[in-house]
Amino acid sequence: MNVAIVGTSINLTENEERDIRQFISLILKSRYSSDDTTVISGGAKGVDSLAIEVAQGLGFKTKIYHPKKQQWEYFKRRNLQIANDCDELHCISVPVHNNECYHHEEPEPHEKTAGCWTLNKAKELDKSTQLIVTLER
Ligand SMILES: [Zn+2]
Repeated sequence: MNVAIVGTSINLTENEERDIRQFISLILKSRYSSDDTTVISGGAKGVDSLAIEVAQGLGFKTKIYHPKKQQWEYFKRRNLQIANDCDELHCISVPVHNNECYHHEEPEPHEKTAGCWTLNKAKELDKSTQLIVTLER
């Protein structure tokens, strides 16, 4: 099975980065087996990179979906491919640094991430999804 872990690529505080590593580790250890699960992500800095690093540390196979070009059209195509290819998707964000996330019916009080756009697409495709936001400290 393919599990997507995506989320914010904003510069994280040390606490946020530590929390995110712990969330990723807990999700992978409690819910999946490295025998039959590949962790997929978008290759951006922040959550995408942490997901791949933590997954590899736990012995999971990983696959990075790079956009062909650094333009929204190509990010969108890449994100759709992740939504299509995953069986389950976890999106991770942090409290607002710059912008509230507008990929929801009403803006939500976590940092904007295209991961939520991908989550919405995965949900439309009937995949299991969850959004995790680290706590304010
Ligand atoms: Zn969001």
